[in-house]
Amino acid sequence: MLQTRVIPPADNAHEAPLLIKRLLLSGIRYEKTREIVYRDQMRYSYATFNERVARLANVLSAAGVKAGDTVAVMDWDSHRYLECMFAIPMIGAVLHTINIRLSAEQILYTMNHAEDKLVLVNSEFVPLYQSVASQLTTVEKTLLLTDGAEKSAELPNLVGEYESLLAGASAQYDFPDFDENSVATTFYTTGTTGNPKGVYFTHRQLVLHTLAEASVLGSLDSVRLLGTNDVYMPITPMFHVHAWGIPYVATMLGIKQVYPGRYDPELLVQLWQKEKVTFSHCVPTILQMVLNAKAGQGLDFAGWKIIIGGSALNRALYEAAKARGIQLTAAYGMSETCPLISCAHINDELLAGSEDERTTYRIKAGVPVPLVEAAIMGADGRLLPADGETQGELVLRAPWLTQGYFREPEKGAELWEHGWLHTGDVATLDDFGFIDIRDRIKDVIKTGGEWLSSLELEDLISRHPAVREVAVVGIPDPQWGERPFALLVLREGQSLDARGLKEHLKPFVEQGHINKWAIPSQIALVTDIPKTSVGKLDKKRIRLDIAQWQASGSAFLSAL
Ligand code: AMP
Repeated sequence: MLQTRVIPPADNAHEAPLLIKRLLLSGIRYEKTREIVYRDQMRYSYATFNERVARLANVLSAAGVKAGDTVAVMDWDSHRYLECMFAIPMIGAVLHTINIRLSAEQILYTMNHAEDKLVLVNSEFVPLYQSVASQLTTVEKTLLLTDGAEKSAELPNLVGEYESLLAGASAQYDFPDFDENSVATTFYTTGTTGNPKGVYFTHRQLVLHTLAEASVLGSLDSVRLLGTNDVYMPITPMFHVHAWGIPYVATMLGIKQVYPGRYDPELLVQLWQKEKVTFSHCVPTILQMVLNAKAGQGLDFAGWKIIIGGSALNRALYEAAKARGIQLTAAYGMSETCPLISCAHINDELLAGSEDERTTYRIKAGVPVPLVEAAIMGADGRLLPADGETQGELVLRAPWLTQGYFREPEKGAELWEHGWLHTGDVATLDDFGFIDIRDRIKDVIKTGGEWLSSLELEDLISRHPAVREVAVVGIPDPQWGERPFALLVLREGQSLDARGLKEHLKPFVEQGHINKWAIPSQIALVTDIPKTSVGKLDKKRIRLDIAQWQASGSAFLSAL
């Protein structure tokens, strides 16, 4: 350690720990009357919101929740969830955002592993909760969340119904100061192999993440995304990485927020129109659903700025959204990273270049945001050049990365091997500072001694006018090790076979974008591509499906 000059604070100095409560306090100073909206069910002002957070804190305390306890939520995106994102950590407890799209068995695993003590359950999930209730080892109490009029449900040790309890509680709560390194939130990775792993974030981490995210969303002129007059509606679930942390940013700035409940593309479009939404974030598959929604046909979405992350953004989707008036900006992050790591920024050099080049950069994973360090690492742990060419694993350092996996020290040590957080993504870093994600390490297709990026192939295939959706995976091949296989959903009334796809890809081979082994010799035409619990391509399921089809000689298949 360097011997720097550290001056001890005066005896009566106040250090103002970086606590989530400080984010809540500023929003209402800016805008008391701005609204927080939940579907067509509820709308109230920031003044009421602050009172409701205090009421919820009183309800939880009366139910026996103490600092250090874990309180879990099973809900769709709602004003209630937002209230929980503040009240639970602000009383010193830990918010566990349950991924309600996992299997019942995995949900049970996460609840026992996280040691949930009290669970807030949306009435829609009561049957799910009942199916695991007898095997829960730590839960002592439940609380009912409902959009309807019911005041009770068949939930064990039910404290009561949310709205009634809030109505009966005091709107005053003196939120204490405590150590900023206290854990505020926890949730589980959506990994498709093995048990989900618990990540966790402290107050300090979330506050720093919020400040950095606000500065990036509001200050980069080339992609100015979120200012105080915007209207925010999340379209990535609040249970997954705090809806990318943006509810904390929006609340800090007093921005109007619209919560859409369960994602129904028709309702999303209606809310966008009615509430004049200008800013959202989502994964590519959800955007595709919004673009296809009946309610949106013929509508001009001009003025809607959307961050796309969670999966690669391909050029076809970027152009399709642009043609409908939507400004897309790519960003990158993961469960382990809170999540914000990088976001597109078009700098002076790129501004002087061509529109085509700018698009190429807008759809990459972006430039690491302030306070984030990104590097490319070889298998031997050495850092590799950031020359836009050399591929290796993307590794990260930042003040808001999970410091391990909850109660799994060995997996945590693997995540942090060599003192950098390992993303499991193969990437390059270039001169403009951009991260270009080539693939997940486990999804790279190893064919004839070459590494082939499934993401790049998906991007090129998606440019075929007949293709609506595409997933590419490597499948075992006795001669080449692996060969690429493409799963396609075609646009209505269109047709394409393996030969047609080859014709489409040939020019990219001739121009040197891909080598000739990248052309899939077999494809499958399907009506739907399997997705994970957060709407990403489920490549593990896809590989299993393909193996089955190949064994049974399925009619979906088309070969060269
Ligand atoms: P998760 O932890 O489920 O949020 O998944 C994180 C993973 O999503 C990353 O490790 C990447 O593989 C992928 N991902 C996220 N953002 C992007 C992006 N902009 N481009 C490509 N892949 C992305």
